[in-house]
Amino acid sequence: MTELTAALSAFKSEAITRLGANHVLEGNEAARFEHDFWNQYSGKAACVVQPGSTEEVAAIVALAARHHIPLVPQGGNTGLVNGGIPDASGQQIVLSLERMNRILSVDPAGDTMTVQSGVILAEIQKAAEQADRLFPLALGAEGSCRIGGNIATNAGGVNVLRYGMTRDLVLGLEIVLADGTVLDLLKPLRKDNTGYDLKQLFIGSEGTLGIVTAATLRLVSPIRERVTLWLGLSTTEDAIALFGHLRGIFGDLISSFELISSYGVEAAITQLSGLRRPVAEPWPWHVLIELGWSFTEGLRERAEAVIGTLFEEGRIKDGTIATSEEQRAMMWRIREGQSEATSKIGYVVRSDVTVAITDIPALVARCESWVGEFGNDIALLPFGHIGDGNLHMNFVVPREKASDLAPPLLERLYSEVDQLQGSISAEHGIGRAKRDMIVSRKPAAALDLMRKLKAMLDPDAILNPDVVITRPPKR
Ligand SMILES: Cc1cc2nc3c(=O)[nH]c(=O)nc-3n(C[C@H](O)[C@H](O)[C@H](O)COP(=O)(O)OP(=O)(O)OC[C@H]3O[C@@H](n4cnc5c(N)ncnc54)[C@H](O)[C@@H]3O)c2cc1C
Repeated sequence: MTELTAALSAFKSEAITRLGANHVLEGNEAARFEHDFWNQYSGKAACVVQPGSTEEVAAIVALAARHHIPLVPQGGNTGLVNGGIPDASGQQIVLSLERMNRILSVDPAGDTMTVQSGVILAEIQKAAEQADRLFPLALGAEGSCRIGGNIATNAGGVNVLRYGMTRDLVLGLEIVLADGTVLDLLKPLRKDNTGYDLKQLFIGSEGTLGIVTAATLRLVSPIRERVTLWLGLSTTEDAIALFGHLRGIFGDLISSFELISSYGVEAAITQLSGLRRPVAEPWPWHVLIELGWSFTEGLRERAEAVIGTLFEEGRIKDGTIATSEEQRAMMWRIREGQSEATSKIGYVVRSDVTVAITDIPALVARCESWVGEFGNDIALLPFGHIGDGNLHMNFVVPREKASDLAPPLLERLYSEVDQLQGSISAEHGIGRAKRDMIVSRKPAAALDLMRKLKAMLDPDAILNPDVVITRPPKR
């Protein structure tokens, strides 16, 4: 028996003693933790451990530290950058937070909610609604992703424009450090200038610096009247001009401003059941806009008046306002369903890039100009949160050509993004998928500081060792 096999075996038996055999999974029971949501990445776990409390997480991390065994924290496993599943070695252990799924308290007067880190995002949204509040983090994976994963990735989503990223919604955190110490920063305070704001270090650190076990979240006023608009446009320039114009009128009442291409709309309505295009014509570009406020009426009339003027001024070609919750849901289903729909057509090469909002038209035009060079059977599928300058500039390619085409397509895209001084990861994070790509893109001093932080907080590289940044373990 090698030293490592002996350590793994000792870890498993001690983990079974601590958690019970039904919370230490192997073989078939571990399979669903070993591949990601879209089956893009897969690995092999030595086993999956499922602690049910902060104390159990701390005990498992201390155990892993004692045996020098790497842990991969996992929430809902919807991450898109290969950060939450084990590598292929069979020597990493998945630490699933699924059982940590309790809402601990809701305080409508203080506008806060405290939750364990394994609560599914949609459950948090529901609990906020029941307290007549809103938890505004919203994304396509909300029925599966868990708040600890959202915090670890600093997730964005469709409401960033108004409410910010996950970072802006976290008031306090409880974290288990790499040696098993519990760091209790779980305060509901808006103001706390007592030195370094340590929780920020862990938000967006993708499980590499600590394990989030609980969070105190910021709630906001409920949205009592919501107006959802679907507009047809000729160009991306029109979309950006419209964004600026409507921000001038509605300000922060706009929570979402999503760009969708004609290709994406047609794919959704032909490949998914029960959907139809909200406007009659297949305009080259569509925008889905959501406005809301906490009054019960008055916003729709204002939006209708503004839309009328937009038509008169020739700013939009076509448009409609959702008249029922069903219609609104259909609009969002078209927006969110593009990935699922295009996966039925071919292999989707995904990306998550960001440039200055005013550079979005240039980025789209540049990609349109060269995509044909890779083959006339490749479709460009740009969509995203253009109010944040964030585009998912995806490519739909024939399945059999996917492995040949994905690397050069992404390389070309990222070189455009570099030239426009954007970022190759807007909201999905780095994981293993983009780890090596940030090395040439971040300032050397920033990379150095990242490595020093990792070495200080996780000297034996126990937590997600190959994710975000590489560092040889200290032995
Ligand atoms: C259909 C679909 C739509 C999506 N839309 C969006 C979007 O609009 N915006 C967006 O930002 N993302 C989006 N994503 C990506 C994904 O949903 C987010 O990254 C989400 O925040 C991941 O949460 P999770 O619980 O699934 O995390 P996981 O996938 O389980 O893990 C993600 C990372 O966080 C780490 N981690 C997980 N839990 C913890 C914890 N408790 N402590 C420490 N580290 C932890 C993991 O090790 C991993 O590195 C989408 C994904 C899908 C499949």
